[in-house]
Amino acid sequence: MVSVAPPRVPFLDIGEVNAPYADELKAAAIRVIDSGWYVLGEELVAFECEFARYCGVSHTIGVGNGLDALSLILRAYLDRGVLVEGDEVIVPANTFIASFLAVTVNRLIPVPVEPDEASFNLDPARVEEAVGPRTRAIMAVHLYGRLADMTALAEIARRRGLLLIEDAAQAHGASWHGRKAGSLGHAAAFSFYPGKNLGALGDGGAVVTDDDELAADIRALRNYGSAEKYRHDRLGANSRLDEMQAAMLRVKLSHLDADNARRRVVAEAYRDRIRHPEIHLPAAGAPGAHVWHLFVVRSARRQALREHLAAYGIHAQVHYPVPPHRQPAYASLQAWRLPLTERIHAEVLSLPIAATLREEQIECVVEACMSFADGP
Ligand SMILES: *Cc1c(COP(=O)(O)O)cnc(C)c1O
Repeated sequence: MVSVAPPRVPFLDIGEVNAPYADELKAAAIRVIDSGWYVLGEELVAFECEFARYCGVSHTIGVGNGLDALSLILRAYLDRGVLVEGDEVIVPANTFIASFLAVTVNRLIPVPVEPDEASFNLDPARVEEAVGPRTRAIMAVHLYGRLADMTALAEIARRRGLLLIEDAAQAHGASWHGRKAGSLGHAAAFSFYPGKNLGALGDGGAVVTDDDELAADIRALRNYGSAEKYRHDRLGANSRLDEMQAAMLRVKLSHLDADNARRRVVAEAYRDRIRHPEIHLPAAGAPGAHVWHLFVVRSARRQALREHLAAYGIHAQVHYPVPPHRQPAYASLQAWRLPLTERIHAEVLSLPIAATLREEQIECVVEACMSFADGP
């Protein structure tokens, strides 16, 4: 048997990410076990208060995952008649498929819009062009952890009478002129999937909003459409953030700002030290607006770069190899021509980034990038 040495820089080692908090996480887990109460209890209520305060909004509603958070926002607006089946929702063309799924499971129509190349996020000018008579909402995805231009998008939404929904699944703690991700539109969805900046030890998600009615609707929808036990006012779902994950998230939330600060140090080190004509580095945007969920470079020779890094023991990944409109599941969207998005998907490569990345690992990534041979 040949033993294979572990990669020198894995893409993301979640065990290592949680290791510094292991004692706190274990204490919280024991507290939940001993409580004898595992769903819709005190840990959830406490986490919901703490996360709402953190985001600067009135309400957090813990749900099962990020996709449910997004879907339930749209479903609540449909129930209230604010949205109607067949209405159009503007979505970034280059997002993760969950942003599209939330729209299509609700029988709404996604209208993909090409990004601004400098930020990978929605381009307000293109959004404006895409607004038609059936357009009712804009879903702003803060891709890779960088906030979209929420000032421009909020202005378009206000002027055209549209809902502005944030998919903040990659942007916990990012801020826009002093306001946090989640507080920048009518409602926002977060994911607490273990690899996110605020990650649980399993699945989890949340809706955050200042809208009291929407919050009450989603609170009922996540629990069988019931605000009162065994009375079901609407056809609900079962999508709850359980006590164990809420307790884990309370621990992780208390370290989120420090973790994001550490991610910024890693990102700045990459941005300062990697100098290569064929590796295009991501921009940081306004101060505080990027929490570096992913550090995504672009290269016309993406595959060669990925293999070169692999030879150094560095695992890079692609977010995402195929855009939603090119996925087999979305045969109905194949006709869309989105050349910029397709080029981005062919060129992006995510370098390892985590709060736990050590200086020698950062240096290893920098050196490997710098030694990437020039193309033919
Ligand atoms: C992770 C993610 C989601 C979905 O979150 P889950 O908890 O995995 O359901 C939605 N949108 C974006 C942009 C994401 O990165």
